[in-house]
Amino acid sequence: MNHNQGSKLRIGIIGAGFAGTAFAATLHKLSPRPVDITLFDKTGCFGVGDAYRTPFPFHLLNVRARDMSAFEDDPRHFVNWLTAHHSSSEQINNVIPLADQFVSRPLYANYLRDLLAELQGEPRSRLKLHLESMEVVDVVLAGDKAQLILQDGRDVWVDKVILALGNNPPMPLPFPVSDDVHCITNPWDYVAPKHIPSDDPVLIVGTGLSMIDTVLTLQSQQHQGKIYAVSRRGLLPLPHAEIKQPYQLTQADLPHNLLLLTKYLRTKSHLHNKEGGDWRAIVNELRAHLPALWEKSSLLDKKRFIRHLLPYWNIHRHRVQPGILDLLHDLAAKQQFQLLGGRVLKVEKGLASIRLRHQQAVSTFPVKWIVNCLGPAMTVIDTPQTLVRALLKRHLASLDVLNLGLTVSSSGALKDAHGQVSSVLYTLGSMRRGASWESIAVPEIRKQCFTLATQLSNDE
Ligand SMILES: Cc1cc2nc3c(=O)[nH]c(=O)nc-3n(C[C@H](O)[C@H](O)[C@H](O)COP(=O)(O)OP(=O)(O)OC[C@H]3O[C@@H](n4cnc5c(N)ncnc54)[C@H](O)[C@@H]3O)c2cc1C
Repeated sequence: MNHNQGSKLRIGIIGAGFAGTAFAATLHKLSPRPVDITLFDKTGCFGVGDAYRTPFPFHLLNVRARDMSAFEDDPRHFVNWLTAHHSSSEQINNVIPLADQFVSRPLYANYLRDLLAELQGEPRSRLKLHLESMEVVDVVLAGDKAQLILQDGRDVWVDKVILALGNNPPMPLPFPVSDDVHCITNPWDYVAPKHIPSDDPVLIVGTGLSMIDTVLTLQSQQHQGKIYAVSRRGLLPLPHAEIKQPYQLTQADLPHNLLLLTKYLRTKSHLHNKEGGDWRAIVNELRAHLPALWEKSSLLDKKRFIRHLLPYWNIHRHRVQPGILDLLHDLAAKQQFQLLGGRVLKVEKGLASIRLRHQQAVSTFPVKWIVNCLGPAMTVIDTPQTLVRALLKRHLASLDVLNLGLTVSSSGALKDAHGQVSSVLYTLGSMRRGASWESIAVPEIRKQCFTLATQLSNDE
């Protein structure tokens, strides 16, 4: 299949979750030249991705509506969309301003689908958007063009390739499980828990936001059995709170050494709290500076951060709506929910053996189901993603030094095995974690979309 369209810029976007959708819309907005976009998704679902695929309205965004616009240069876009389409929806709280609400993720998926529908309605002379329900399994470069190889053997030629592949697949369970225990290995298979009988005891491995999603799903189907949630430290995400006193951090003042930075932030938080402020203001502000800090940090500090500080950073950074934590506390008070800190050794014959923190003896807990909520694999090194493996095998891409993602330039262009910056292959989102760490959520990804779309528009 050859899409030769004269002077049209032909773009292949691989992955139609948030990043792929937002990039298509941003490029269309910024490009002075007509573009011909083929948007691929292996699931056949466009404008959702793992995060927003959930059918359940009780699965909420963990970021307020005001920060969820798809466009860096139009921060109110999502709130305006909500106002126009859903201000009378029963999913919207009429008391709290729309911008301050944590709205449902299915509603956000509708927003992304609407963006695609708008693009499809554009005059074909300006934009041709073709949606292709197929996995891209390989890329072959031929001069300044790329041939995308599809899983069914077809091919598509483009001028630029944008990888918007999303998170790594879930981390595998690091302990053996015998066959008599049912395992839900993918926490983003949102309907899988419906098979769990109401009285069965469930062990959720991981205590972050996906664990909370699973508890909410179980709660919605009137689950009566015991729910255990376990992680090494047994830490829950901290609650969001309205920030009344913003805080300003200056890049130049932030130490580049991890130890000094941690001390600096602790002292600043302490002082800010004393003045009636809130540590969340500092964490929010720090997030904007993280890519630059990460880039300047030593390899040793990056490793130390991942090894020692990551669980603590995660609970401060990935926060939860306070009402949801109240539900967990209620379930715990009823003895239905138990949060455990420890290491699962094995799950065998209906018993989970767990060495609880600070205890020598191994405790056992009866379980019939396990839900893996460990989150995406940390590194790409053994990735099952065919396309990423193919790019590495062809030396068109290289892994960053910590194997968190691919080596990229500041605009997200891939660097090949010899460090050469590509003018054809680019990536957005999770694959850029090695370069900037914070690269998986809407506020960061939309900025990447804007920068890259601006560059490609100017290149034309
Ligand atoms: C449960 C959950 C909740 C979240 N909530 C929020 C939130 O409230 N706010 C926020 O800012 N962030 C949130 N996030 C972070 C989230 O990762 C980002 O918001 C965003 O969805 C990432 O978009 P993406 O396009 O990079 O990945 P995804 O949205 O996952 O999209 C990647 C797409 O690529 C496709 N794909 C991959 N490989 C191929 C291939 N070779 N060929 C074809 N298609 C392919 C996949 O099928 C998938 O649809 C959440 C994440 C999760 C997991």
